[in-house]
Amino acid sequence: MEAVVDMRSDTVTQPTAEMRRAMAEAPVGDDVYAEDPTINKLQGRAAEIFEREAAIFVPSGCMGNLLAIKTWTQPGQEVICDERAHINQYELGSMTVVAGCVPRTVRAPRGVLSWELIEPAIRPKVFWYSQTALISIENTHNMAGGVIQDPKDTQEICERAHERGIKVHMDGARIFNAAVGAGKSVAEMSRGCDSVMFALSKGLGAPVGSMLVGPRDFTERARITRKMLGGGMRQIGILGAAGLIALEESPKNLKRDHENARFLAEGLARVKGVEIDPKQVQTNVLVFGVRGTGRTAAELAAKLKEKGVLWNPAGGYEFRIMTHCDVDRAGMERALRAFEEVVKAA
Ligand SMILES: *Cc1c(COP(=O)(O)O)cnc(C)c1O
Repeated sequence: MEAVVDMRSDTVTQPTAEMRRAMAEAPVGDDVYAEDPTINKLQGRAAEIFEREAAIFVPSGCMGNLLAIKTWTQPGQEVICDERAHINQYELGSMTVVAGCVPRTVRAPRGVLSWELIEPAIRPKVFWYSQTALISIENTHNMAGGVIQDPKDTQEICERAHERGIKVHMDGARIFNAAVGAGKSVAEMSRGCDSVMFALSKGLGAPVGSMLVGPRDFTERARITRKMLGGGMRQIGILGAAGLIALEESPKNLKRDHENARFLAEGLARVKGVEIDPKQVQTNVLVFGVRGTGRTAAELAAKLKEKGVLWNPAGGYEFRIMTHCDVDRAGMERALRAFEEVVKAA
């Protein structure tokens, strides 16, 4: 059988040969003493690129978000986010378990937050209310289908939130996809936000790691919590070396991933029983319905797997799949053909 076309997520990307070489050769030191030259370089570059004071490397995006929440809040406070936000649905309640905070969710159409949606969810400053401490914006929005958050909306949210003493965090796991999709820089896409988390290990292709950027006193407090959670690591320049290549080189390849997503969406739109609007596909994530095929996404996924195509069912009749650097146009065509066959046979 041909090689597997794995489109379950952009997390499955493999480190490139260049990354592996850089990892082998990286100068390293003990990062708990802040002495790892490669990690220090990566943190410096991330801060520069995001036009922030400082950055800190974290083992995962989940930890990055948690550190931001824990740093900006006190136990008993509330965090406003979209209902389908990763921090609400896929981080195992860590904001509650570890940071002692309660998510206060709003329903954002297509995952896009605006001040209009947020304002009614803010608690009045009365002592018997749990206080709103933080707003978290996801960009791109994963479960809404890689939707880009308009930087104008973000800036408005930040300005209004700051007037009320509320901080704003951006869960920018895929902010480079957002930036490429919008034709702007990641600094512009996150302007106004007090902190940003972004992943090196998703579409950018590094094997491990995310970054948290913000003011220096923020990253220094996050460093303490990172240590508390067991995330103080030693010679992690090994990982940072791959991260540096991901940060400097990979963003320019994301345009191709977005073109592939659009190509696939157009192909899927022609399959009977599939609900997708290719014009809504802005980046590398495709969320689409298959109810009209008469089969659940899980049933179709099992058949696709037999043909060497891995797609992620995201619930009853919905798929969520991603394009990334390890699947080229030929892979897209193969996946599409396999899907057409599976649907026909259904
Ligand atoms: C993947 C993801 C995370 C968490 O990243 P991990 O490295 O998997 O912990 C956070 N937010 C969003 C939007 C994500 O897609």
